[in-house]
Amino acid sequence: MSIINSPHYISVIRSGLPCSAVAGVWFAGGETQVKPPPFEYERPTSLAEAIEALASHPGDARILAGGQSLVPLMNFRVLRPSLLVDVNRLAELDFIRAQGAGLRIGALTRHHTLETAPPVAERFPALAEAMGHVAHLAVRNRGTLGGSLAHADPAAELPMLALLLDAEIAARGPAGERRISAGDFFLGPLTNALADDEIITEIALPALPSRTGSAFAEVALRHGDFAVVAAAATVSLAAGGTVAEARLAVTGIGETPLRLGSAEAALAGERRTPELLAAASEQACNTVQPVSDLRASADYRRHLVGVLSGRVLVAAWDRAAAAAA
Ligand code: FAD
Repeated sequence: MSIINSPHYISVIRSGLPCSAVAGVWFAGGETQVKPPPFEYERPTSLAEAIEALASHPGDARILAGGQSLVPLMNFRVLRPSLLVDVNRLAELDFIRAQGAGLRIGALTRHHTLETAPPVAERFPALAEAMGHVAHLAVRNRGTLGGSLAHADPAAELPMLALLLDAEIAARGPAGERRISAGDFFLGPLTNALADDEIITEIALPALPSRTGSAFAEVALRHGDFAVVAAAATVSLAAGGTVAEARLAVTGIGETPLRLGSAEAALAGERRTPELLAAASEQACNTVQPVSDLRASADYRRHLVGVLSGRVLVAAWDRAAAAAA
């Protein structure tokens, strides 16, 4: 499902995303006025009702979660859905549950909850760290996990973390539930693998091995802006101190977040040396083909991929070593 028809709108939306674009409702002359084009509105109280409502307007209905991306798109007249299906009353989508040493997290979980919930910080610290870089508190209090994944902004933090952590995304539609790996979910800028009538219900994050450390780092023009480039890594150590598995992901460089498989492979089975870390960072730089835009040139982004990859690998390795001690 493509959120909008033209990726060109991404820079328009990001560069002109004032809070007033999100606050789309006001009162005048005793009547409620809204900025966006007219739409019908339904607020179901069960997931089944929400799916039914979506199916009632094939291809023309939108889920309203936190509204932090959808409402600006409507206010700018980029999107004109005929029906909004407000899922904010679906308590069944708002949870964080342990699954072994992993987690299942409901789609309606707010960014600020991900930032502060102890099970997230304990089991997936890079995810909790990353959330502090998403916008500002007011946005994080509304924005949701499901909304960020579905919106699939190519510089967003959550899609990259889902990719890094091998998340499985559960989607429900009239035909039932299916599970999509994060690697298959992000198809392009603002484009995901959902059908028009499917709702993300939760994600499953598999447990990380013991002796694992993870880390996140970002460069943005101002704190809270979308990333120019962000990176995240996990390093899992074998009993002898060599790398059992390393994962490295970046966002902000192209159409979707990326896992940097060749840099990961360069680390597997190795012992820590400055030369190894430098080689992995260089491999990361050489793998990416960044875009240039108003905020940064492709060369600068490539440079950032190297610097940030080095930083997150060192931090993740330090944490893995501390966990192994
Ligand atoms: P909505 O806006 O409600 O929906 C977004 C899209 O997802 C819509 O197409 C909607 O139909 C669909 N959708 C929502 N929920 C579901 C679901 N459960 N299943 C299927 N489809 C669904 N994001 C970042 O990542 N990093 C940033 O730095 C950042 N900065 C921001 C700064 C500002 C000022 C603002 C306003 C937003 C910023 N955002 C940023 C976006 C923010 O994180 C949004 O909350 C997020 O992109 C969308 O989540 P939402 O819950 O608000 O979704």
